[in-house]
Amino acid sequence: MDYEVLIVGAGFAGAEAAYALANKGVKVGLATTSLDSVYLPFTPVQPPYPQGSLLAEVGPLGQKGWALHSQAKYRLENHPRIHLLQLSATRLLLEGRRVVGVESWEGPRKTAEKVVLAVGSFLSPKLYIGSVVEEAGRLSEAAYPDLYLHLQELGFGFVPQAAEVPPQEGTPGYRVEYQVFAPGEWEAHTLRLPRVEGLYGVGLCVLGRGSYAQMVEEGMRLAALL
Ligand SMILES: Cc1cc2nc3c(=O)[nH]c(=O)nc-3n(C[C@H](O)[C@H](O)[C@H](O)COP(=O)(O)OP(=O)(O)OC[C@H]3O[C@@H](n4cnc5c(N)ncnc54)[C@H](O)[C@@H]3O)c2cc1C
Repeated sequence: MDYEVLIVGAGFAGAEAAYALANKGVKVGLATTSLDSVYLPFTPVQPPYPQGSLLAEVGPLGQKGWALHSQAKYRLENHPRIHLLQLSATRLLLEGRRVVGVESWEGPRKTAEKVVLAVGSFLSPKLYIGSVVEEAGRLSEAAYPDLYLHLQELGFGFVPQAAEVPPQEGTPGYRVEYQVFAPGEWEAHTLRLPRVEGLYGVGLCVLGRGSYAQMVEEGMRLAALL
């Protein structure tokens, strides 16, 4: 196996889970579609920051997008037990009903004892900006449809959600519509997606909505459970 835990998605939930798991000695793979959007907020992140979190370390150094992103990415990449890598997961690798890794758009397969989906607003998203519609989970980050279609093939159900980003320096406002796991697909107390053994979900893709601090806390909760 490449990792003990493979986390798909390096937003607040996935990155925070990876950092906390690695700090307790677990070998973690942290995969993201785009290394340029690791731990990148839509709008500045306001204190208070959850105690003991990566956010508590980096938040005071820069609450705005790129400053926060670069400080967090530096810590994740330099952690001896985290392999931060760019790949887009397209399918789960399965042995019977058990997940043993992921396949990727780029080609490489990565294997792990446990797989965590922390894919945020990237399951079948549509981004509306002015008269333009894109398949993207955030501005400038396209989403491939494969993983969502594969999860549907496996029988997972989804419900639609939507969120708005207000206009900010240099960018007009926009809206993202996305899918999240349907109630019943996710066990809130274990964070498991029990349709597949060894599969977990964390953050926006299972909660539907919530603040950055909540995503951070959920990432830390996952690390404590695994
Ligand atoms: C449009 C919008 C605006 C929001 N604004 C705010 C706000 O202002 N304040 C606030 O407190 N909360 C806001 N939220 C809510 C929530 O706090 C954020 O969405 C937060 O970023 C969610 O964290 P996350 O880690 O679950 O997912 P995300 O931050 O979305 O991270 C998902 C990660 O998964 C990766 N990924 C997705 N699919 C794949 C794949 N197939 N393979 C590999 N990697 C993949 C992406 O690259 C990304 O790294 C907003 C939500 C949305 C949708």
